[in-house]
Amino acid sequence: MIICSHCKGNGYVKIRFEAEQAIEQCKVCHSQGEINENKYYHQTWTEGTEDSIAIYYGPPLDPESFKNYTISGE
Ligand SMILES: [Zn+2]
Repeated sequence: MIICSHCKGNGYVKIRFEAEQAIEQCKVCHSQGEINENKYYHQTWTEGTEDSIAIYYGPPLDPESFKNYTISGE
């Protein structure tokens, strides 16, 4: 298991809606704070001087290696 980069291992994410702040359970790791490296997840990052968006569906990548990395669920 590796730390869920969406919620940073917390199991929840803080979301901001207008002036309100709310807590939402993390849908990437299902509030576990960890994700399974053998499962496939939808991930994106930006690359190149144009910051073009790369889209990837597969096992979780290392967030440190990618610019503007996001993971958005299975
Ligand atoms: Zn999570």
